[in-house]
Amino acid sequence: MKGTRIILMGPPGGGKGTQAKLLQDKYGIVQLSTGDMLRAAVAAGTPVGKEAKAIMEAGGLVSDDIIIRMIADRIAQPDCGKGFILDGFPRTVPQAEALDKLLGGSAMKIDAVIEVRVPDAMLVERITGRFSCAKCGAGYHDSFHKPKKEGVCDDCGSTEFTRRKDDNAETVKSRLEAYHAQTAPLLPYYEKQGLLRVIDGTAPIADVTRQLEKALAG
Ligand code: ADP
Ligand code: ADP
Ligand code: ZN
Repeated sequence: MKGTRIILMGPPGGGKGTQAKLLQDKYGIVQLSTGDMLRAAVAAGTPVGKEAKAIMEAGGLVSDDIIIRMIADRIAQPDCGKGFILDGFPRTVPQAEALDKLLGGSAMKIDAVIEVRVPDAMLVERITGRFSCAKCGAGYHDSFHKPKKEGVCDDCGSTEFTRRKDDNAETVKSRLEAYHAQTAPLLPYYEKQGLLRVIDGTAPIADVTRQLEKALAG
């Protein structure tokens, strides 16, 4: 199987989802967000959703077992054949090792790991201002990315929006702790493999996209 396989790494609120969606639309490679999958499972009340709900609301990490099973099922689907952008996965060393095994078994490999770097101090505002379209999922921000027409989604025209329950200042703290303790160790893991590229996630959205495209080209 051929394709482009990218991992977007970065702290909660760093802009991974925003950039993954732009890449998906531009290059037709699918965004695989474990956060979105878990939220769908919570909304549907599945066993996975029931197990994940409280952990997500507290800003902790859902068990590696659940996540690895979820991503293995998803990557096996035909639309992933052209490639995919992993957004929010892997988040622990065991997840990264499981991914290597999974891809190795199908003779696939990761082409690039991009770290969207943003200092902690910027992330509370990013996260507490985040909202998204209830119909199509397009992402917005109260200050940094408002819909062109107030109250109307740019992409689908819907007038309904949602905010995530875990997007509050208290939970951000736990999520950042989890990022630094459990996810940041993956950066040297990928650096050693020569896959890691770092971009400046503090720049405006369009600028980050340009850096990302440059990093993927080079
Ligand atoms: P992540 O997927 O990494 O958690 P998001 O892509 O959801 O992050 O971005 C978090 C919030 O910050 C969203 O409200 C988004 O609109 C906004 N945002 C994303 N990238 C930028 C940026 N480069 N500058 C300012 N705000 C941004
Ligand atoms: P953000 O990028 O803003 O942190 P996500 O949507 O990626 O948000 O994740 C939301 C929550 O879902 C996380 O705080 C965590 O509880 C859970 N989650 C998502 N992906 C993973 C993963 N790969 N491993 C463990 N938990 C995860
Ligand atoms: Zn919409």
